[in-house]
Amino acid sequence: SIPLGYFGGIGAASRNGILFKGSNFLDLITTIDTVVMDKTGTLTEGVFKVQEIKTNGLEQADFLATVAALESKSTHPIASAIVQHTGLSYQQKTVSETEEISGHGLKGKVDGQEVLAGNGKLMHKYNIAYDPQIDAIVDTIVLVAIGGKFAGYITIADQIKEDAPGTIETLHQMGIKNIVMLSGDKDSIVQKIAKQLKIDLAFGGLLPQDKVTKVEELKNQGKQVAFIGDGINDAPVITLADVGLAMGGLGSDAAIETADVVIQTDQPSKIATAINIGKKTKQIVW
Ligand code: ADP
Ligand code: MG
Repeated sequence: SIPLGYFGGIGAASRNGILFKGSNFLDLITTIDTVVMDKTGTLTEGVFKVQEIKTNGLEQADFLATVAALESKSTHPIASAIVQHTGLSYQQKTVSETEEISGHGLKGKVDGQEVLAGNGKLMHKYNIAYDPQIDAIVDTIVLVAIGGKFAGYITIADQIKEDAPGTIETLHQMGIKNIVMLSGDKDSIVQKIAKQLKIDLAFGGLLPQDKVTKVEELKNQGKQVAFIGDGINDAPVITLADVGLAMGGLGSDAAIETADVVIQTDQPSKIATAINIGKKTKQIVW
């Protein structure tokens, strides 16, 4: 039978928008010494805005319409930003054979030409050469190739969530010494955000599978790991972590299904609340 105190704990959590899928996780969450976090959509808003557009000779409006036509087939927040910025002009273009390449970007045909839109890894994969100075730009960036040639880039920015700095500070104060950020975004922007948020360790340029490997490594070091993510591509790591938390606001169904704890708001600070409720419950139960 479940001791009465757990019902109190689960109830208190639920009033805070935190759903524990079992009383065992109320216990387990108090033993966490390492918190691993996703960046985009978890610590940042996940709502990108176009900043700068540079083309390799193409007229800007046509370049944008071509990229937006391809991106209109993707649900990625980067794609939404480009489509939003472009307006409706992309609808004049014919798109076919689109393929989302996880952790890389998109590939497809626009008006019969092959178009690639994504990161440096995508360009590398398809042997597209571009000015290496572009890699020095510390921003999220979408590189574009049209007809097998580099055609330009679009820089986009995301914002750190209001409660993100406080979340890291609170977790540190609670004695959680290892806070790790994992991201598929380019490493330079990932390290910049980690520094701003005082995150202990950060890794960028990761494929979804690399995130799994990182969490496995931490577990093999004997760490008790909680992972919190917004759910996009995160289901495997959520499953692997000792306690997997999914943010329900934006999260995918797969992530919510595999999560041990679902956070119904989009606030990363709820992980600290969840740990505190676990600790209080323990005091009552024992
Ligand atoms: P994160 O770990 O930050 O959530 P993702 O794994 O979703 O990142 O994506 C990793 C990277 O792949 C992005 O930062 C971006 O460079 C590229 N990418 C993914 N999807 C797209 C897309 N639709 N358009 C352009 N680039 C994309
Ligand atoms: Mg993500």
